[in-house]
Amino acid sequence: MDHDEGQVIHVCPFCRTMNRVNPEKLHQAVCGMCKNRLDATYYDIFGISQDDSLHDLKHRYHALTKMWHPDKNPGDMHAAEVFKSINHAYRILSDPHARRTYDLTLKKHEVAQIEHESREPDHPNKEIDDKQFQLNLMLVLMIVCALVMIFIALVLVRQVR
Ligand SMILES: [Zn+2]
Repeated sequence: MDHDEGQVIHVCPFCRTMNRVNPEKLHQAVCGMCKNRLDATYYDIFGISQDDSLHDLKHRYHALTKMWHPDKNPGDMHAAEVFKSINHAYRILSDPHARRTYDLTLKKHEVAQIEHESREPDHPNKEIDDKQFQLNLMLVLMIVCALVMIFIALVLVRQVR
C-alpha cells in the first residue's frame, strides 16, 4: 500500500514549497520548509487581520519586501520564492475588489471548516454503540448460562430421586 494515498500537493503560502498533505488535516499541517501553517491566509503572511487598513498593509509590505528582497538575499532561492508570495498576496489585498472577493472565499472556507468539525463527533457515538453492544452480548450469555445451570440442576434432581 502506498502511504501517500489520499494526500495532495499543497503549495505553502509563505515560501511556495510543495508539501504533501492529507486535505482533511490541512488545518493543522505546517510547511516542511518554513514551519508556517499551510492553511495560512494572505493576511497571515503580513501578520495583519482582515479589519486592518490598506495603510497597515502597506507598512507591513514595505518591511517584508525589504527583508526578503533578492538583492539582499543573492542566490537564495527560498528568499526569492517568499518575495514572490509577498508580492502576489499584496496585489490581492491592496486591490479593494480583489480583496473583497478573497474575503468571500475565506468566509466560505470557514463555513466548510465549521461544517467539517461539527461532523466529527461521529466517533464517540460509535464507541458508545460498541459498549452497548458488548453489554447486550454479556447479558445474553449470562441468561444462556443460567438456563444451562437450571437444566443441569433439574437433571441431577431427577437422578437423585
Ligand atoms: Zn513554507
